[in-house]
This record gives sequence, C-alpha cells and structure tokens, in this order.
Amino acid sequence: MTMTKRTSRPIISRRRFLQACACTVAAGALGATGYVVANAPLPPPYPESSVFQTPVAGIPTPGAPILLVTNPGAQPSFGAYLGAILRAEGFVAFRMARLDAINPALLAQFPLVLLTVGPLTAEASDLFRAYVLNGGHLIAFRPDPRLADLMGVRALGGDVTDGMLAVADHLLAQGITTQALQVHTPMAQYELAGAEAVAWIARRDSSRTSYPAVTLMRAKKGIAALWAFDLPRNIALIRQGNPAAANQERDGMEGVRTVDLFVDWIDLDRIDIPQADEQQRLLANMIHALAGEAPLPRLWHLPAGASAVLVATGDAHGLLASHIATALELVSRYDGALSIYYAPPPMSNRSRTLRRVRWLAEELPVAGAVFTDDAGYPTPKDVARWRERGHGFGLHPYVEQGVGKGYHEYWNTFIKLGYGPAEPTVRTHRVLWSGWVETARVQAQYGLRMSLDHYHSGPLMRRADGRWVHGYLTGSGLPMPFVDEQGNLLRVYQQHTHIVDEHLMRVFDTGYEMGVDVNEAIAIACRQIDAAVEQYPSALGLQCHIDPFAFGGEKAEAASVWFDRVLDHAASRGVMIVSAEQWLAFTEMRDQAEMRNLMWNESEGVLMFEAVISAESQRAPALLLPLEHRRRILRQVTIDSVLASAEQKRVGGVAYGAVALAAGRRQVRAYYR
Ligand SMILES: [Zn+2]
Repeated sequence: MTMTKRTSRPIISRRRFLQACACTVAAGALGATGYVVANAPLPPPYPESSVFQTPVAGIPTPGAPILLVTNPGAQPSFGAYLGAILRAEGFVAFRMARLDAINPALLAQFPLVLLTVGPLTAEASDLFRAYVLNGGHLIAFRPDPRLADLMGVRALGGDVTDGMLAVADHLLAQGITTQALQVHTPMAQYELAGAEAVAWIARRDSSRTSYPAVTLMRAKKGIAALWAFDLPRNIALIRQGNPAAANQERDGMEGVRTVDLFVDWIDLDRIDIPQADEQQRLLANMIHALAGEAPLPRLWHLPAGASAVLVATGDAHGLLASHIATALELVSRYDGALSIYYAPPPMSNRSRTLRRVRWLAEELPVAGAVFTDDAGYPTPKDVARWRERGHGFGLHPYVEQGVGKGYHEYWNTFIKLGYGPAEPTVRTHRVLWSGWVETARVQAQYGLRMSLDHYHSGPLMRRADGRWVHGYLTGSGLPMPFVDEQGNLLRVYQQHTHIVDEHLMRVFDTGYEMGVDVNEAIAIACRQIDAAVEQYPSALGLQCHIDPFAFGGEKAEAASVWFDRVLDHAASRGVMIVSAEQWLAFTEMRDQAEMRNLMWNESEGVLMFEAVISAESQRAPALLLPLEHRRRILRQVTIDSVLASAEQKRVGGVAYGAVALAAGRRQVRAYYR
C-alpha cells in the first residue's frame, strides 16, 4: 500500500484506525519517553501464599458413597493427596472430613470410609470398630495398633524399609501386574490373624516375605481392609523422587535436574511399569468392591474415544518463526496441536524495546512497510495466529542463576515482547530443578499450572550391563498435582515427558544420549505408545525440539522423519495428539467434575445421578459404569433421557461401559437387569 493510494481512497476502517492510533501511542511511548517504564520488571502475578490449592474434594457431594477421613495427627499428613488420587482414578463422588469432625451419625451415611495414617484415641478407634461391626466398610492405611484385631492381623512391631508390594492371587488384585512394585515408605510388619492377604510385602529381590502388605477381613456385618503403609505418600515418593536427593548432582550429567531425584531410587528393572498408577489402581479395585449396595460410577482417565493421549511439545531456543511453523505444520497433518516452549534470543533491554516497537509499527497501515522486522523471530501476530489454530506458545526459562531469578526474567521478557499472556504450561530449560517441589512453587506464582519438567533423559536410563531402559520414570502415565513434603497440594500438575528426541538420537551431541539411528528411535517411541494403548492408560509427554529444523541437513531430516512417523503411529492407534494447554484444560475439567445425588433403586436395578461437567475443555470425558453388579448386567444408559452408546473398557480388574459425557448438568440413568 502506497501513500498516494491511501490519500485518494479512504480504505481504513474505524476499527483499524483505532488500532493504529493505539499502536502509534504505544510505539511512541515505548520508543521515546517510556523506555525506562517499559523495562521496569513486573512482579510475579500471584503471591507466594496462593501456590497451594484448597482440596476441591472438600465440597460436600450429596449422595456420595465414600467418606475420606484425614488424620491431622500424622506428620506429615498426605490425606489431601489421597483425595487427589481418588480423583485421578475417576472417583469424584466422595466427601472429606477431618478426624476430629466425625461422629457415628456421619459415618453411618457412607457405605465406605477411607482412613489415612495416624494415631487414634481409644474413643476414635471405638467409633470405627462400631461402624464396621454394624456393616460399614473401612479401608485404613497403616492404622493405629488399636484397630489391628478388627483388621484381622497381629502387629509384630518393626518395619520393613525399602520393601516392595507383590499382589496375591486374590479377586481384588485382578488386572494388577504380578511383578513386585516399589514402596519407599516404611511398611509395618503384621501377621495374619483371620484376614485374607490381597498383597504381600516383598524384598528388593522380589522374594515374598510372610508379612501381608494389603489385607481384607470380614468382621461381623462389615469389612475392614488394611494397607501396611502410607499409600498416598508412597505414590508421591514414586512420582516426585527422593526428597533427600534434592539439589544434588547425582546422575553424572552436569546440572541438577529432575532426573537426579531418581538416581538410586527407581528400580530400572521396573521402569516399564507405571508403578504408582498400578498401586493406586489396586486401591481402585478395592474401592469398587467395597462401595456398598449401589454400582459405583467413575470417570475414564482420558478423553472419550481416546485409547491414549500424546502431549506434544517442542522446546525452541532463539529460533525463527519459519522453523516453528515447520513443526506446527507437521502436527496439523494429524489434526493435532503442539506446545512450543520458547526462549527468545538473548537481547538487551534496548534491542527488545526496539523489536517491540518495530512489531507494533508493522501493525500500522502506513509505517508497516518501513518498519518491517526482517529478523524473522516470532512476532506477537505469528503467536496469535498459532494460538488460534490450537497450538501453544509458552515459556522456556533459563534458571542457571537460580529458579526465582530465571522465571522472573523470562516471564518479564515474554510479556514485554508482546507474547503474553503466557500459556499455563511450561518446561524449564535443561529441566534444571530446585528442591523437591521448589520449582513448582515458583511456577505456581507465575500462573503456570502444568510442568513438563520430569523428563526421561540421561545416563540414569542405562543399566550397569549397558542396556538402555524406557518407560515410566515417575511411575506414572497420568498427571497429578505436585505435593510438598508436608502433604500440601500445589496448584501445578506434574506431567511426565516420556518420549524425548534428544535422549534417543544425536540432536545436540551431548555425549549423554543413546544416539540410535532414526529407525530405532521411531521403534522405541512406537513401542511405548503401544504399551499405553494396550496396557496402561497414559498421557505420554513427547519432546520434539524445534532446533534441528533450524540446523538443516541430516539433523532436520532425522527430526522431521522421526516426528512424522511417531505422530502417524499414534494417530493410527486412536491416540489423541494434543498440546499441553489442551491437556491441562481437559485435566482441570475432569478434576472438577461432580457426581451428585446418587440414588440406587435396588428392586428396579436403576442407578440415577446428576453429572456436572464444566464447559472449559473441548474434549468430553467418559463416564464409566460397571458392566456387572451383583449378578446383574448393565443393559442400557440414558443421558438426559437419551439412549447413550457404551464402549467396553477394562480398568484394573473391572469391566466398564464407557459413555461420553457432554458439558453441562446431565441426568444419568443406568439400567441393570
Ligand atoms: Zn532448552
């Protein structure tokens, strides 16, 4: 557009004119007088006090069949985390209460009560005893010795440390791996005195001891089940690594990273099993069996119709928009979306201001041609266009100078370049990590609600015999909120990155990678996707760096072949390819789902309840209804009186009918005959 044409024909719209005025003012302010103001650092948007979440499970849910009793007498107390585990397993119809708030009338409202670790007074233990003898079902984690006889065990005193859990040949252990699973908390030594063993304590070499790890006892009209250890705390220790290893360099690869927390912690012979997920699924089997007279509905871990999820991400270091566009284009071919974690090229305050001014000037109808930024770095307009297409463009902070400082600098630069607001998901450069959850605490202050820093990479993954292992470093295929050492839940989800390009192939030639060729790297990634589809419901984090697309030559060729073939395999197996932001939106929506007013008509065989799903994610969750219930079979399901089609799914030892659930308030009826 030339000056002559503009003066002869007024083609500028009112909206465009106002935009241009705003830009002129902004550009003038930045360029002339506002230079100092534009570079004044902004504080984190959320105060330090806001990093913890109030357990959403505390909301009383009418008709909930499960009561979770937390015991503040335990130090630390992982009761809130047990609530997060129930939600992760899709049990949303439960209520939480502190031990000091319970009474016989409250307990009697719930067919199933879960009791977390901690000491009990004689009075409290009598309460639970009476509850069970009158027909209640109690699951207690390492309970006070006063309850041992009710549980059908005798406490022998002493603990097994560094033990394992090995399931017995028991109905409740169906669908759970028969390989022994790691337990990082002390396990109390009991002997059976009337109870059945559901699982045994095993030693590190997998040999079984005579001590039960999980038991079941019929006590008069009720049932009492025991776990010999603090299961929720163990899940956290498996997922987040060894707290005693925090801030230590342990794997021989320079830099204190997330993976250092897992050295001498994860048993590499078991990395192919999601050990934390399998243990919570054993609990889920038990909850299903003990939930009472009515069938217990729950939510599928993944979006309806997905057999697994691939959370696609790519770190990008000072790269150009064209390189990023190449990777986005690849993912778009499979109807997928990609999260870019972008570190802008190093620049002074002055050059950042000038770049911002140029970008703003480009918006002007006249000056645009003069000021066009030809460096090719992503402009705010590029970023807005990518986001419109469903991709993410988020922070990739360098924290070599400290986590607080690094996040502060990178967040400020990101905002001041006009890329804001920052996406709510993040990966730290080199996955450097502070404390057990210190980095997550800082992330929460910047409104970052999902971290992809736990990362399968480095020499730890190589066994002493030279063989490389693959799988679930954090023992999990599913996101869960981080929990601190005291048991407080953080407002940040941990999402493991399972499949990492720079670990498999020579992307950066660090000398720490496996360095296999592209075909072998494709095969490893596809095997992991197959395991998620066939065995363990998972959202697999995937890293495909954008840098090789800028390197060109063989590196670019390898990256594009690897990425394309892995995406192609995922799509062919019904795996949903999503950005981390889309995955976070689904995860938060599923975590806030409610099931209210559960009612079971025993004579008619009809289960009725209201499901409430917020409309914040485009991907529908799936409702799971047990296919069998006490010799009755699920015949049909209606949602708002409309017949719904159900797909069969097995979770742990239980077969379910899965039904997609659209957002809103839905009346669900499940008919059993
Ligand atoms: Zn990086």
